[in-house]
Amino acid sequence: MTIKKRLYWSASLYLLLSIHFVHASYLEVTLLGTGTPRPDISRFGPSTVIEAKGRYFVFDSGRGTTIRLQQAGIPLAQIEQVFITHLHSDHVSGLPDLWLSSWIWQRQNKLHIYGPVGIQNMTDHIKLAFQADLDYRIENSGLNPLTAEINTTEIKSEGVIYNKEGVQITAFFVDHGLVKPAFGYRLDSGDRSVVISGDTSYSENLIKFAKGTDLLIHEVAAADETLLQNNRRLQKIIRYHTSPDQAAMVFNKVQPRVAIYSHLLLFGINEQQLLEKTKSLYQGAVYIGEDLLKIGVGKNITVYPTAASQ
Ligand SMILES: [Zn+2]
Ligand SMILES: [Zn+2]
Repeated sequence: MTIKKRLYWSASLYLLLSIHFVHASYLEVTLLGTGTPRPDISRFGPSTVIEAKGRYFVFDSGRGTTIRLQQAGIPLAQIEQVFITHLHSDHVSGLPDLWLSSWIWQRQNKLHIYGPVGIQNMTDHIKLAFQADLDYRIENSGLNPLTAEINTTEIKSEGVIYNKEGVQITAFFVDHGLVKPAFGYRLDSGDRSVVISGDTSYSENLIKFAKGTDLLIHEVAAADETLLQNNRRLQKIIRYHTSPDQAAMVFNKVQPRVAIYSHLLLFGINEQQLLEKTKSLYQGAVYIGEDLLKIGVGKNITVYPTAASQ
């Protein structure tokens, strides 16, 4: 091969590789909390973090979010964007801690919180509730009052709510009974995407927005039949969540590369039974989520086992 030819080939190869790297993107998802309102040491309150383009995006902030972030090795100071699906307490009870702890640990910018109508009222009152602490720390520890501010966005309608530096986040309506509005979110970066259902019953709108996503993180609720028959409160709860049969129907229509259950509301049914039921109705890859489960979404999707499951 002549030198000219060799140069030509190496230049072409370089071009090919750089095109590949420009378009190929990678998302790292960590399930911080996969639980419900029930206090549970192994399943903290609902929260998921996605790392995209070197930045972190937190979805919901249930009980213990900061502890799980710490365990996952994600610096609190780097949490600047939080997206709330709905205002049920299990999805927001970790919010004051996330806001204050990320500030104390030197967050460089304001915390931006997105959520349904009502989130402004909540952040205004969280600030009021912690006014004494803010005053102490600004005065005694010299913490920055500007970064203590919360930038709140109330989402009024569905569509793209965030689009910066190669990361786009879309909010869409889901159906969570009386809790209106309740949102699901889709994060897109390059050719990769992740969808988070939030709390919802079977939702055609979710299917529309989630279609063909790489990773679908979906809630689920299931109860033993005899338990359900005699319990009206339980019947009500189950009605505004998604049953395993319905979840399988959603997965079949969305066709995600991987589906993962989070926010597991199980009554008299164990996780293995839930998985078997789903697998009998859906042939694709499906996993039971657990706290600190990491999922790499790139050309391949890798589900890393947690220390607890090894
Ligand atoms: Zn919930
Ligand atoms: Zn809820």
